[in-house]
Amino acid sequence: MSSTDHASPFDQWLSGDPEVLGLLGDETERQSTTLQLIASENFTSTAVLAATGSVLTNKYAEGYPGRRYYGGNQVIDEVEDLARERLKALFGAEHANVQPHAGSNANVAAYMALIEPGDTVLAMRLDHGGHLTHGSQASITSKVWNFVSYGVSAATGDPDKPGEIIDFDQVADLARTHRPRLIVAGSTAYARIIDPLPFREIADSVGAKFLFDAAHPAGLIAGGAHPSPVGVADVVTFTTHKTLRGPRGGAIVCQSEYAKAVDSAIFPGLQGGPLENVIAGKAVAFAEAARPEFRRYAADVVANARALADAVAAEGIRLVSGGTENHQVLCDLRSFDAELTGKVAQEVLDRAGITCNRNTIPDDPRSPFVTSGLRLGTAAVTTTGMGPAEMTRIGALIGRTLRSRDDDAALGIVRAEVRELCTGFPPYPGLARA
Ligand SMILES: *Cc1c(COP(=O)(O)O)cnc(C)c1O
Repeated sequence: MSSTDHASPFDQWLSGDPEVLGLLGDETERQSTTLQLIASENFTSTAVLAATGSVLTNKYAEGYPGRRYYGGNQVIDEVEDLARERLKALFGAEHANVQPHAGSNANVAAYMALIEPGDTVLAMRLDHGGHLTHGSQASITSKVWNFVSYGVSAATGDPDKPGEIIDFDQVADLARTHRPRLIVAGSTAYARIIDPLPFREIADSVGAKFLFDAAHPAGLIAGGAHPSPVGVADVVTFTTHKTLRGPRGGAIVCQSEYAKAVDSAIFPGLQGGPLENVIAGKAVAFAEAARPEFRRYAADVVANARALADAVAAEGIRLVSGGTENHQVLCDLRSFDAELTGKVAQEVLDRAGITCNRNTIPDDPRSPFVTSGLRLGTAAVTTTGMGPAEMTRIGALIGRTLRSRDDDAALGIVRAEVRELCTGFPPYPGLARA
């Protein structure tokens, strides 16, 4: 390839490093010619890309606007203040911190701000959809705090009341028994609306604080498709790169009473200098998410997930909890083929150009590395302009791929169809390779 193959202004600046330039071209091509169904991914706007790739990356800005440790932060202060004000306006929050490098950092800082080391925290079980930072054995969180876990109710087999939703009786029982200092709501693999109100009631009944981890639904909340936990929870953490469609990173909003504790937990408690180029990208994304078009986007993401869920169910794949109310479709592959693992399904779908991830299903008999499930998401494909008709087609392509897993010729045909489908929905039209 040559540097004229795609038209980003950055290409010229990278022309002296053909190795990295080539890899950027390869990845642009991958993102443009395969289906991005990973529920935690999205496509940012080119405005977000520009801010993230800007000269702001050069500046050290330890501290907060007006209280920096180094000189030269006049402009940086304006950038970070703009991001904070936009974020407060977006969610109607009293205080915002836009410095977390990731959602995981935002969560650890929230724990640091709200409770003491050794305190008990009640959060969602990892194998039922909780996140690593909700007390996984492998995470620092489980070494510093004492986690107790709630899960979802059992599957019933009854299509009208399928179960596999958060079991609030269990949450309340565990809260009464373990008297946690903090209750965490939020999930990485859960296809239902998470209502903050019952969590607040249970937290109040035992004198616990309440953290809502909105990493996944942040964009659906900003776009009015899901109820907002802001003002209900004491602290709300989220990622900026999932449904919110900003640059990779985290953020925290909270009531004023926790502002000081949250800010000092992020810096100097957990992080050093903030990534002000990413913070500028967050500012751009917060403004985009405040526009009326973003409300439409959030509604479309949910409608597309419903269409995709119907389409994969029509292929004989069981949906965990019987359906979806957000951007995720959680598939139990055992109904489709008892021998098919999530790992093999993910690998064969990758060969067909359909990118998604294996996932445990509640009470999965297989290990987290193998799994019996797949997690699909519609945030990225909706950004490219795909609608329910494309979701129906994608569901059928998934079924064909999984049935053809030992048939290279059939997989090649699906791959060609995926490529053709993607051609009509380029994520970055200006970046398409010639
Ligand atoms: C994605 C996610 C996070 C962490 O985000 P990173 O930016 O990857 O650190 C935290 N909590 C939940 C529920 C998530 O889904």
